[in-house]
Amino acid sequence: MKNAYHRNYLRHCRRLIVKLGTGILTTDRGDLSPSRIRNLALQVKTIVRKRAQVVLVSSGAIAGGMARLGLKTRPTRIHDLQACAAIGQNLLMHHYETAFSRLGLVVGQVLLTHGDFQDDQRRENARHTLLRLLKLGVIPIINENDAVSYAEIKFGDNDQLAAQVHKLVHADATILLSTVDGFYVREGRKKFLLKTVGSVSLSLMRHAGDTVSGRSVGGMKSKLLAARRVNAAGCPLIVAGGRVKDILPRLLKGEELGTIFLPRKKCRAP
Ligand code: GLU
Repeated sequence: MKNAYHRNYLRHCRRLIVKLGTGILTTDRGDLSPSRIRNLALQVKTIVRKRAQVVLVSSGAIAGGMARLGLKTRPTRIHDLQACAAIGQNLLMHHYETAFSRLGLVVGQVLLTHGDFQDDQRRENARHTLLRLLKLGVIPIINENDAVSYAEIKFGDNDQLAAQVHKLVHADATILLSTVDGFYVREGRKKFLLKTVGSVSLSLMRHAGDTVSGRSVGGMKSKLLAARRVNAAGCPLIVAGGRVKDILPRLLKGEELGTIFLPRKKCRAP
């Protein structure tokens, strides 16, 4: 019942943050995939047509840069990662621009660092820019400004960035799309997908792992931390599989896909 209520809530959301992980934007060889990006753009268009505003938080810059330089393994030195990001961000936006403009939609790039959220003036500037883009009917595409962020001031992963942006623009819900299709817990030898999580407890955190794979960072732990932040703002966060057919429109129709993390109190009205 509670689940049905909250899944239904998604149908009425007016402003959404959608985070796209590296694994759903790249081919199995690791380069940016124009066809995957086209498909996601098409899904975003179906949401926008229903008059919901969408802010994308997109990874994929480092993977794009690695592929362009012919690197098979993720560099470990920060300056090499930053160089990859500088190369790949450009390619990433080229693919988004191509995909969205074919659909008659305009995109705008916004690169943010942790420092932008710490400083009142810069945070307000970012907020006003994002709100203006939305008002103009533009899809903002946000990434961490990896070329200038440094280890200790980094968000570290785009799950946290998505949660911060959620609060910044007072979104109604956040959806994290990646190659995992939800939050699984293990009981003995079996794994179960949790469809609904009422609150992210410490014991739940123990079921989650970190990821620093060939091309991306994040993992379930960072998704749970993001869920805590979004839930604290009174809103739900959904973790779902970005390769599942028509995942975004289906979630917004109220289909029970992925895992929904709920705030303690009833979600605030969208
Ligand atoms: N900002 C990084 C990129 O664009 C990704 C960080 C993450 O995957 O969370 O590649």
